[in-house]
Amino acid sequence: MAKTGIKIVIVGAGFGGLTAAIECHRQGHDVEIYESFPELKTLGDIISFGANGGRIFHRWSNGEIAKKLRSLSIDLTDYGFRIHKYDTGEVVYHQKTPPQNPEAPVFNGHRGELHEVVFNYARDTLNIPIHLGQYVQEYFEDADKAGIVLADGERVYADVVIGADGVRSKARELVLGYVDKPKSSGYAVWRAWFPNTDMIQDPRTAEFCANGDTFNGWIGPDVHFLFSTIKNGSDCCWVLTHRDEHDIDESWSFPGRLEDVYKVLEGWDPTCRAVVEKTPSLVDWKLVYRDPLPTWISKHARILLLGDAAHPFLPTSAQGATQAMEDGVTIAVCLKRAGKENVPAALKTHQDIRYDRVRAVQKTGETTRDMWHKTDWAKVQKDPKSIGFPREEWIHQFDAETHAEEAFEETFKKHTQPQNVDGTSLLPSGPTPVVV
Ligand SMILES: Cc1cc2nc3c(=O)[nH]c(=O)nc-3n(C[C@H](O)[C@H](O)[C@H](O)COP(=O)(O)OP(=O)(O)OC[C@H]3O[C@@H](n4cnc5c(N)ncnc54)[C@H](O)[C@@H]3O)c2cc1C
Repeated sequence: MAKTGIKIVIVGAGFGGLTAAIECHRQGHDVEIYESFPELKTLGDIISFGANGGRIFHRWSNGEIAKKLRSLSIDLTDYGFRIHKYDTGEVVYHQKTPPQNPEAPVFNGHRGELHEVVFNYARDTLNIPIHLGQYVQEYFEDADKAGIVLADGERVYADVVIGADGVRSKARELVLGYVDKPKSSGYAVWRAWFPNTDMIQDPRTAEFCANGDTFNGWIGPDVHFLFSTIKNGSDCCWVLTHRDEHDIDESWSFPGRLEDVYKVLEGWDPTCRAVVEKTPSLVDWKLVYRDPLPTWISKHARILLLGDAAHPFLPTSAQGATQAMEDGVTIAVCLKRAGKENVPAALKTHQDIRYDRVRAVQKTGETTRDMWHKTDWAKVQKDPKSIGFPREEWIHQFDAETHAEEAFEETFKKHTQPQNVDGTSLLPSGPTPVVV
């Protein structure tokens, strides 16, 4: 790919920042990452990538990266997804796994393990500079450039800064001009990941680990419990979404208490408690409300928010990481097509291309949760499919790169030759609250 001469600084080496870096490199830009973590750690638990994310991974190193990710991911070809009624434990719907598209595979696995593959690809194969242990203190910009200030006071300059710095984004403060505080949503998730050692000793739970990977969900009133076994049944993972009015912390490492989980599981299928009893430690993650941001772009359009910094997602959408990846693909295409002299228009074009789709996908997190938490069991009896996890074509069959290439010209014109475009705005008229 021909070099564009565009220098990009990315803050944050999560899936959003790494994908943006890899895609910017693919499109010929000159890119570096600054990340506050001093070293790579295998953090987190289960994370999902839809086929629309798999399509992006598949393009890296001729499918080599996707192959590595597959070996770490759940394989539900035989088992599918079994949905149970919470109290009786009966399987009310057995959702079959659709055949994998080799060009757009689906991945579910340990966030830290999958992240390591992508991180190593960016740093070691593509030689993208990733500066670890660099906490970005400040962002700045003027009409011609943008930059960051590191903890030791060093200023780093670029044509574009991408703030892929997660839910507690500092870049968001500069873009919005205020601190966007999260609000309680009334829900939280307990999450755990552990080896199958105790599970295989217990006849009540051994079946989940002895015959390959499994995925089961128990749906109750305002609660759902998802349990999976991964890597040929060797690792176990569960997440339980429940009512929680406590105060908020958007942290992944806040510890949870098993006694609290047991209380929620009173009167449930005893299999759930038998699984939870094997858990050595768990995370208590409060789900918070954030209003959709009015913009992802700074005043001079040299700083762009990307991924969770721009639009955090509910876990029930299973699309947070994938949408962050789609952002990375889109901005890389927009910058290539616009060229170095049109960076601000490239950022505006990116936002126009992405904004409505992101909002629509975000909403699916709420609709799926509400569909499960307010289940009408008589309806499920008549139509078991109605309780299945929605796999919507418009989300999963999407090709972010092709879409960006196709949508670019018309959208870009809006910002460079507004006189030649009709007055229709591509942005929604005003923000409405969303749960994240
Ligand atoms: C430690 C961790 C564990 C997670 N575990 C899970 C999980 O188990 N399941 C799941 O579905 N999702 C998990 N997530 C969130 C998930 O990765 C994201 O929702 C999604 O991938 C979008 O990623 P992102 O790149 O936008 O944000 P993130 O993945 O949050 O990445 C943001 C990055 O920016 C860095 N950063 C933040 N501020 C600064 C700063 N001022 N200077 C420099 N660097 C900064 C952070 O250290 C982080 O690496 C986790 C995120 C983190 C950070």
